[in-house]
Amino acid sequence: MSSKNGALVVFSGGQDSTTCLAWALAHFERVETIGFNYGQRHAIEMDCRQDVLEHLRRQRPDWSARLDQDTVLSLDVFQQLGETALTHDVEIAMTQTGLPSTFVPGRNLVFLTLAAAQAYRRGLKHIVTGVCETDFSGYPDCRDDAMKALQVALNLGMESRLVIDTPLMWLTKAKTWGLARELGGQPLVDLILEHTHTCYLGQRGQRHPWGHGCGACPACALRAAGYLQYVGEEGEYGLKSGE
Ligand code: ZN
Repeated sequence: MSSKNGALVVFSGGQDSTTCLAWALAHFERVETIGFNYGQRHAIEMDCRQDVLEHLRRQRPDWSARLDQDTVLSLDVFQQLGETALTHDVEIAMTQTGLPSTFVPGRNLVFLTLAAAQAYRRGLKHIVTGVCETDFSGYPDCRDDAMKALQVALNLGMESRLVIDTPLMWLTKAKTWGLARELGGQPLVDLILEHTHTCYLGQRGQRHPWGHGCGACPACALRAAGYLQYVGEEGEYGLKSGE
């Protein structure tokens, strides 16, 4: 199952990138992680990242043996570019462009370009990212076409054969929970519920059935709906209890 090739996971400490990290650890001999500090309104994401890595190592010694270095790059340049709801204290709302104010133009393109530079330098063939076209806020830089075009551009520009893997691209949020269960059973689902961070407002606060968060922002709403659907679907299959 495991490929001899290594992978670099774009890892933010959220549900999606944690599931991607588990996917990479199940498929590759050597896995590294990269994260970006881009002046998020809430540094809590960066704390959750470390928390998730620590718990994952403890839960799965076999994965821990494959999990190599973590790199965090500072990208506060996005704050200089202008205001979005993720970098400044502005309201989360739909804008005239038809995209929510949480959209940071160019962010994913820059993230993946820097990830490619790191993968090239570290001798890792695969870049794994949790972008998704299904169930999502419609960010254009998360779409399959954008990822495929970027892969071509990066390989031409670096004379390389890097592969951008997007294991969540066609999964609903409910199916993403299902994938986590497939990869690491209930302990991994529990780890993701307890330790990952999704909330746009940076609130940990209350522990809902689907994890921590304000419960009202679009990210919390998406996570909650996905989890409820997942629990419903698992119920249909007669939830594999005792696992
Ligand atoms: Zn929230």
